[in-house]
Amino acid sequence: MTTEAVTDALVIGAGPAGLFLAFELGLLGISCHIVDAQEHPGGQAATLYGDKPIYDIPALPRVTGQELTERLLEQLRPFAPAMHLGEEITTLAAGGDDGGWRLTTSRGSAFHASCVFIAAGVGAFAPRRLKLEGIEALEGSQVFHWRPTAGALSGQRVLVVGGDELALDRIDSLLADASPPASITLMHRRAVVQAPAETLARFEAQCAQGRVRFEVGQVSGLQIENGRLSAVDRSGPDGDLPPLAVDAVVVAQGMSPRLGPLADWGLVLERKQLPVDPANFGTALPGVFAVGDIVQYPGKKKLILSAFHEATLAAFAAADLLDPARSQVLQYTSSSSLLQGRLQV
Ligand SMILES: Cc1cc2nc3c(=O)[nH]c(=O)nc-3n(C[C@H](O)[C@H](O)[C@H](O)COP(=O)(O)OP(=O)(O)OC[C@H]3O[C@@H](n4cnc5c(N)ncnc54)[C@H](O)[C@@H]3O)c2cc1C
Repeated sequence: MTTEAVTDALVIGAGPAGLFLAFELGLLGISCHIVDAQEHPGGQAATLYGDKPIYDIPALPRVTGQELTERLLEQLRPFAPAMHLGEEITTLAAGGDDGGWRLTTSRGSAFHASCVFIAAGVGAFAPRRLKLEGIEALEGSQVFHWRPTAGALSGQRVLVVGGDELALDRIDSLLADASPPASITLMHRRAVVQAPAETLARFEAQCAQGRVRFEVGQVSGLQIENGRLSAVDRSGPDGDLPPLAVDAVVVAQGMSPRLGPLADWGLVLERKQLPVDPANFGTALPGVFAVGDIVQYPGKKKLILSAFHEATLAAFAAADLLDPARSQVLQYTSSSSLLQGRLQV
């Protein structure tokens, strides 16, 4: 679904920085849209260490990347920002006579925003793709670079390609499905699969029970008949093997971030990072702010707690820009009836 929206604020990135920024904007009475290239919020925390605990979030002695994301979403709920997932912001250009900025996405959505917040972290995450002739046409029907939807591969012969935790996670969710695949083969180019001990032990048990077959090898081609994938060509450590009949291929070779279109927006990047003014997190473009891992300023630390601070100052700076006459009196959530009203508490 595409969107055409006019908004005070548009946040690029639903990682920890973008989510907390949307909360701070909400407290200041500014509504926003959030756009993220990934199908789920949470940025690196959800994608790279969703089930691993981190220990340096203030007042949360131990929290996993996924739990942190869920807590940030819960905190943000009163402000109900419009969240657009699975869409990459591809262009940012001056908004013309109306001022502000015009942004478009990879799905054809368009936004006109008075203020823009770049919370793009290390870039938009995309799955490392299997590069084979004819693969694009099968994407979403028989080849899946993202997690297939529940039940999509019911009763099918599934090949999972990958050799780390992501591949084993995909296998776990396929097996946990109410209507699982008929068979699952994991193919990895090395004999060793890299994953935490607990995940590895679970995988070994799945193999021992015959629920998953592990094969060392590589997919070298796709056999497509009448537009449908029927088998994959493969090679093993000792050379080519006979084709493997499959109905679906799940590619789980990891995710890699790419800065992508951001480099073309007329912003000066220094070593793939945006220099900002640490007093207000403004960039060189008026009304365009940046926070989180994407920014660079003296003393910058790529930590979530730093991103929270940056988000707060950027939100205040945007509020001043949007309403120069607004009161400068700092309000506390513990005592301000205005803020409590906005929080619906
Ligand atoms: C393995 C690992 C462990 C870590 N452990 C800790 C820890 O213990 N404590 C800690 O404080 N920090 C830790 N970090 C660092 C922390 O994850 C980052 O500082 C934090 O995620 C930065 O948040 P962010 O929102 O700036 O960026 P990100 O989390 O990278 O989120 C940015 C989001 O922007 C999206 N995006 C980018 N470009 C676009 C675009 N053009 N259009 C739409 N969306 C876009 C991306 O898809 C992504 O979802 C760790 C990092 C890693 C890799």
